[in-house]
Amino acid sequence: MNAFTLKNGELYAESVALSDIAARFGTPCYVYSRAALEAALDEYHQELAGTDALVCFAIKSNSNLGVLNVFARKGAGFDIVSGGELKRALAAGGDPKKVVFSGIGKSVEEMEYALNVGILCFNVESAPELDRLNEVAGRLGKKAPISFRVNPNVDPKTHPYISTGLKKNKFGVAYEDALALYQRAASLPNLEITGIDCHIGSQLLDPSPVAEALDKILILVDQLAASGIHLHHIDLGGGLGIRYKDEEAPTAKAYLQPLLAKLKGRGLKIILEPGRRMVGNAGALLTRIEYLKPGEVKNFAIIDAAMNDLARPALYDAWHDIVAVKPRDVAPQTWQIVGPICESGDFLGHDRELALEPGDLLAVLSAGAYGMTMSSNYNTRPRVAEVMVDGDQAYLIRRRETVEELYALESLMP
Ligand SMILES: *Cc1c(COP(=O)(O)O)cnc(C)c1O
Repeated sequence: MNAFTLKNGELYAESVALSDIAARFGTPCYVYSRAALEAALDEYHQELAGTDALVCFAIKSNSNLGVLNVFARKGAGFDIVSGGELKRALAAGGDPKKVVFSGIGKSVEEMEYALNVGILCFNVESAPELDRLNEVAGRLGKKAPISFRVNPNVDPKTHPYISTGLKKNKFGVAYEDALALYQRAASLPNLEITGIDCHIGSQLLDPSPVAEALDKILILVDQLAASGIHLHHIDLGGGLGIRYKDEEAPTAKAYLQPLLAKLKGRGLKIILEPGRRMVGNAGALLTRIEYLKPGEVKNFAIIDAAMNDLARPALYDAWHDIVAVKPRDVAPQTWQIVGPICESGDFLGHDRELALEPGDLLAVLSAGAYGMTMSSNYNTRPRVAEVMVDGDQAYLIRRRETVEELYALESLMP
């Protein structure tokens, strides 16, 4: 569903005008649509109805408690990559029994915390991590549920920074080593082997690499069974892409059907870890034009949001649609949409055809994933507010930071 639509010549989030949100909460701010979040999760749940499955939202894509709470209330689990994200999942009403813990650098403290609250599974990414987890679990008198994140070495055909399942990547254990590692895990007293997992990359627009990865994983599952190791679940990670510009993102059906077909009759629970797909198109960054600076070579529209608020354009040269909240009925010009930060990389969009005046509001669309979570305080810019729209209501789910808060942890020299 598209939560951001024009009504009577101005952009709305569900039934709330973005101009009203700007007036009430100020700019810049992130705006999310509850209906769009729920629709994204429903799209998965519909395809998975009748199968033993769990959708674990990848918290790193958007970790706001209000967002997580929307998903928790609909029965979602969570994919975490740190102890901090686990604490967020629980604070948002998440069920620890539906949490899977990914990441290559789990600390002793994070393992203890996750064992004490009783998570569903540790996705183990190396042999030393396996040994550490066995030791920590032993000390606590617990058995740690584990799966290995296996690197199936398939090309996800996406941006190199977000491709994670190739041999050259730092993630997961090598496919060729997996059998021996499972046998090692089976010999350790404080571990319980429950599953296997993989995550090959992000913003996948072609469903076939994941299906290819599953074929490889299933060969391993059979080899493991032959050696007496029986798994309960298979976790195929996240990665399903969204439309930013003109990409053809697969439907959840097109993505999941081939996977479900391959898993049919195997008695394995399926776990999925979507992030971007659940939140990306459900959020926008609302910003106001501070100045227009037309030039001989380029025209600059200087906005109050910047690369510290939304890093994706500067980081990956990512493209976000940028639209006027109240489109003007005059001839457009070509604008560089830039922030106030002292970096030439501080842009949110290049060469956009828009009719603009100073003070106009713009919406940077598809900003719900890896927007706020990748934001920083660079240039001592307070992190922006986040607002959740639900029908005709808008709720502040994170207030804007103050400058004093930014240096509250610092001290002068004695
Ligand atoms: C980042 C990540 C995800 C989510 O990826 P999306 O592309 O946002 O769906 C899922 N699982 C793991 C292990 C990840 O690192």
